Amino acid sequence: MNVNEIMLDLERKHPGESEYLQAVREVLESIEEVYNQHPEFEKAKIVERMVEPDRIITFRVTWVDDNGEIQTNLGYRVQFNSAIGPYKGGIRFHKAVNLSMLKFLGFEQTFKNALTTLPMGGAKGGSDFDPVGKSDGEIMRFCQAFMWELWQNIGPDTDVPAGDVGVGGREIGYMYGMYKKLAREYNTGVLTGKGLTWGGSLIRPEATGFGALYFVEHMLNRAGKELKGATVAISGFGNVAWGAATKATELGAKVIAISGPDGVVYNPNGMNEEKLAYMLELRASNRNIVAPFAEKFADATFIPGKKAWSVKCDIALPCAFQNELTGADAEELLANGTWCVAEVSNMGCTPEAIATFQKARILFAPGKAVNAGGVATSGLEMTQNAMHISWSAAEVDEKLHYIMQSIHEACVKAGAEGDYTNYVKGANIAGFLKVARAMLEQGIV
Ligand code: GLU
Repeated sequence: MNVNEIMLDLERKHPGESEYLQAVREVLESIEEVYNQHPEFEKAKIVERMVEPDRIITFRVTWVDDNGEIQTNLGYRVQFNSAIGPYKGGIRFHKAVNLSMLKFLGFEQTFKNALTTLPMGGAKGGSDFDPVGKSDGEIMRFCQAFMWELWQNIGPDTDVPAGDVGVGGREIGYMYGMYKKLAREYNTGVLTGKGLTWGGSLIRPEATGFGALYFVEHMLNRAGKELKGATVAISGFGNVAWGAATKATELGAKVIAISGPDGVVYNPNGMNEEKLAYMLELRASNRNIVAPFAEKFADATFIPGKKAWSVKCDIALPCAFQNELTGADAEELLANGTWCVAEVSNMGCTPEAIATFQKARILFAPGKAVNAGGVATSGLEMTQNAMHISWSAAEVDEKLHYIMQSIHEACVKAGAEGDYTNYVKGANIAGFLKVARAMLEQGIV
């Protein structure tokens, strides 16, 4: 494989799709060496096939807002790869959603899902619908209109969507309600992240953040470090940030920063139960600002326009959006003594930031390994749905723990570089080999 040649070809086919091209380049560069040891992959053109989505469904979503105005948004589902299981991945509602973003996310999801040890292929979907400031009625009508178009393309053995940025339990509920009406069957396995009384799994809302902290714990243990007493800066204040802050606090770390598009909240005394509960309230308010946190808690300070990475911390956890931590942010973190960065958002760090961390040889792990606990627990939800049972919180948490440990081991095994663990390389190689072997065995399709 010649990475530059493949990238040139891809750039020609998908001009300007920067996030997608960025995600593919990162993976290809780190698997190149292993790939070239397998002439059978080259012969079957595995990489050339794997970088293109199997299929993309695009549709118009028309709905009526509270003023009676007709609104039209774009809807998508990118079914990326189904070599190891039905398509699986979240739905993102955000004003910046476009095909480049969803292709990058679907591509990443393929490798992430392969790492979970569960049989799930990769997909992603979404819309440029902006949930900020929308009423509950508007959210419901939009979700219904979205599902009206999507429903025939999904199913428990076909494609199983879930939440992502802008899509949580409420949206999944509205989408499932519409699915059920259209399909005329009670088929819970078609979506994950459902409510607990109608097929959801305990621990699913917490799973991405909890799983991330289990992964970080393993990284730290291996490096002879401890979470207990460490200071943690988190970006975002949504569901993922909340799960990460909750588990970090439970494990004895101090979460000293959370952030939003409006700035960062410096929280020197760390979180407590009341503060963690307020994070959820803040997200549910749909205003997308973090400043009210500092109005409510006297020991916290709001710094407008600043990122979480301006706060001196031991551990940085990007929990918001892709490319939210840049090369300049990485320099600032290093200057402040940060010694561990784990992406909880998908592709949270730019390539420059990753290179900066790796050059400094601090602990760094990529989103597809760190945040895989979310989709892994979706996989556990699918299993429970298929068996028509529900496991206790302790059972699900134990399985999540085991999965995160397995992912960590797989990364260490494939990513060893002398005495440094290159988790990016480890995650990419481990995920790639699983999907590549399955594709090879299934022939030219
Ligand atoms: N959106 C999450 C992710 O990026 C979860 C996907 C799922 O549960 O299917 O992995």
